[in-house]
Amino acid sequence: MGEFDLIKQYFTRNKRLDRSDILLAIGDDCAVTQVPTHHRLAITTDTLVCDTHFLADICPADLAYKAIAVNLSDLAAMGATPRWVSLALTLPKCDHHWLSLFSQGLFQILDEYDVELIGGDTTKGHLSLTITAQGFIPQQQGLFRHQAKVNDLIYVSGYLGDSAAGLDLLLNPKSSECNSAQHYLLQRHLKPTPRIALGKLLLDYSQCAIDISDGLLADLSHILNRSQCSTEIEVDKLPLSQAIQTEYSHSKALNFALTGGEDYELCFTIPENRQTDFENMLKAKQLNCYCIGKITSQSAENIRLLHQGKTIPLPKQIGFDHFR
Ligand code: ADP
Ligand code: MG
Repeated sequence: MGEFDLIKQYFTRNKRLDRSDILLAIGDDCAVTQVPTHHRLAITTDTLVCDTHFLADICPADLAYKAIAVNLSDLAAMGATPRWVSLALTLPKCDHHWLSLFSQGLFQILDEYDVELIGGDTTKGHLSLTITAQGFIPQQQGLFRHQAKVNDLIYVSGYLGDSAAGLDLLLNPKSSECNSAQHYLLQRHLKPTPRIALGKLLLDYSQCAIDISDGLLADLSHILNRSQCSTEIEVDKLPLSQAIQTEYSHSKALNFALTGGEDYELCFTIPENRQTDFENMLKAKQLNCYCIGKITSQSAENIRLLHQGKTIPLPKQIGFDHFR
């Protein structure tokens, strides 16, 4: 099978595109799209390389799902509504079983979020994929790393550390069969949930968010750096799942929560005077978010960890960095 048949079979769907934002998708030299009036375009790219970001024996459907999820998570962190993705895929060979599962995982998540694949590139080489995702943000709105302000409260959108715990279980299985807690943790690692709906709701309450891809402390420090401020985090308020607490000691779970990557929860700020409105909205929408601390001063990017009111030391390594 040649390159063009491969694209046709696995990446083109015969579905009628009745969307006003896409004039032309796969099949020409470029896709041609339309941003609705009074909106702006948010664009993000992420690459996943075999042996660096995933293991060669990963289920191809999970791989496709996660590759899209991590890009949509970046859009969620801007408050954007995802609309289009393109996919640059490098494959060592044309393996039909692999491609068929990959394509299923890909279109499953695209359909879940009403996102369309509008183009890409297919080449031969060491397995890797690069996805570019694009979405719309209403004009004059958006969630930015540089918008944290003194006295803002800091929230996270869900349990922390589960993905790192899932990866730990993947690399060091505790037994041949996994129990339900282990299964949950593995799934949090393999199929993260981009917090799209929450990101959009946040536009009315917040101006500052990041998605937690490298670990809470590492990603929070990006906000502090861009906003030039400091923060206090109360470790007793970090949300930990039942599963991580059953499977790991409290200190290990806490370390995963502070430094483990790939949870893809949102970390965002809420001005103090919007807290009640915000929490009422969460209740009405049946969403859970957790207030874990606050922005304390307009100075040098410092993170203070508090346990029962007392300062405790920061973990030695605070997040993942490819070149460290
Ligand atoms: P060109 O040579 O003009 O760059 P290609 O031959 O690479 O175009 O691709 C042909 C069409 O197929 C283009 O519309 C391109 O966007 C699309 N395409 C190629 N690879 C993929 C892929 N992996 N997923 C989705 N669309 C793809
Ligand atoms: Mg090409």
